[in-house]
Amino acid sequence: MKNAIEKIAGELRKILGPDRVISDPDILGAYSADETPDCTGKAELIVRPESPKEVSSVMKACHEAGVKVVPRGAGTGVTGGAVPVEGGVVLSLERMNRILEIDLENMIAVVEPGVITGRLQEALRAEGLLYPPDPASLDSCSIGGNVAENAGGPRAVKYGTTKDYVIGLEFVTPEGEIMTAGGKIVKNASGYNLIGILAGSEGTLAVITKIWLRLLPLPLHSIDALMAFSSIEEAIDAVRSILVKRIVPAAIEFMEKDAIDLVARHGRGIPYPDAGAHLLVQLDGSSPDFLHDELEKLSKAAGIDPDSVLVAESDIQRERLWKARRSIREAIRAESPVFLAEDCVVPCALIPQYLRSVKTFLGEKKLRSIMFGHAGDGNVHMDVLKGDMDCGVWKGILPEIKKGIYRLAIGLGGTITGEHGIGHIRKDYLPLAMSDREIELLRRIKNAFDPRGILNPGKIF
Ligand SMILES: Cc1cc2nc3c(=O)[nH]c(=O)nc-3n(C[C@H](O)[C@H](O)[C@H](O)COP(=O)(O)OP(=O)(O)OC[C@H]3O[C@@H](n4cnc5c(N)ncnc54)[C@H](O)[C@@H]3O)c2cc1C
Repeated sequence: MKNAIEKIAGELRKILGPDRVISDPDILGAYSADETPDCTGKAELIVRPESPKEVSSVMKACHEAGVKVVPRGAGTGVTGGAVPVEGGVVLSLERMNRILEIDLENMIAVVEPGVITGRLQEALRAEGLLYPPDPASLDSCSIGGNVAENAGGPRAVKYGTTKDYVIGLEFVTPEGEIMTAGGKIVKNASGYNLIGILAGSEGTLAVITKIWLRLLPLPLHSIDALMAFSSIEEAIDAVRSILVKRIVPAAIEFMEKDAIDLVARHGRGIPYPDAGAHLLVQLDGSSPDFLHDELEKLSKAAGIDPDSVLVAESDIQRERLWKARRSIREAIRAESPVFLAEDCVVPCALIPQYLRSVKTFLGEKKLRSIMFGHAGDGNVHMDVLKGDMDCGVWKGILPEIKKGIYRLAIGLGGTITGEHGIGHIRKDYLPLAMSDREIELLRRIKNAFDPRGILNPGKIF
């Protein structure tokens, strides 16, 4: 007897044609994971629709048959969001990858979800426009995935995250209905904010098929600068002083000592390798003179001699400065291919306290950690290295390590993830961050969108 997937495969082939319904085991394997370590599922069928209508037909068929569907962008997620952990059909949005419109008059872009974020930014730059959210994965992740995860990046300190730019969404409900919320309007006070509910919903409520994005004028100039401090406390104090002086950098990233040491060991030519902490700052604005003035003010506020600040104004110099920050993961992998990656968030001023308490907690378990991240918004990336610990022991203590790291963030008024989401791998820990009542409300929202529970099961809850 045919199972539900075999039965529906024929119907989906009628809708999309045979080439866009895939059951080749090698390809199914590739779509059974994303970038999350140790998290694989079982894709039973892959579909590649090319229009909202096709997405709708796929959803209608799957809904009727009670078949689970997992939306997938570019598969760069790091919490297992696009992993078919309970099997089913993977609905890949990769073919819906057109920039539909760049509306110069209204400064709005209308895009399909499969557009690669970096490609959109490039196209907008050519028109003198800026779409600010800049996840480090921008050369490979999709804008639909960014909306579903409410992705952030270094520029969040000045410009906010993905949700701050989404002003309209077309989406397909699990039942297959095509709906639109918002559009080319920057303000909207009609009813509940459906866009706000869908942005960050991790593919569990609806399939996003079209996105309207608010844009900004492209700043004409930018300067990047690296500053060295003797300790992380000094660096974060400097961030506070900079922001209090109303200087708002586009980005302000930190690396603590263990991160600097690690990159110095594995990378080449990291500046100020003996420092206790680095701040990497980007300023943007309308003229080089303005930026030089701002940088001088910023150095003074940070208590740093302007002559000791490494300044990059050309793309090559910029790349050199950012290389150290970007090569952290590579260096971690070289020392410990297995590691735990967390992205808790705490109030900015409490970053040093948080880092210290996590280091102490991990030190008691003889574990090393590397910390870096977004100093201006309190989002701390911390990687805990397995090192030469026995795999069984490592796996056994992971839940306790995660809980410890999360509890320390929550204790400081923070939460368990700033930009990577709950996905599959953090779902067991959501009760640490939210009360039973809050989770119950989230479940009710899920039920309102997806009463049969067919869309991206095994995520968030
Ligand atoms: C090297 C690296 C660096 C990274 N840096 C950052 C960073 O700086 N900031 C950050 O926030 N993240 C970062 N990430 C994580 C990841 O890139 C982001 O979460 C990104 O938004 C995922 O986009 P994607 O297209 O790959 O989505 P996927 O991984 O394919 O999917 C992610 C989630 O979105 C859902 N989804 C995807 N498309 C749709 C759609 N059209 N409709 C409904 N649901 C959908 C999926 O079901 C899944 O739950 C990084 C990842 C890597 C590997």
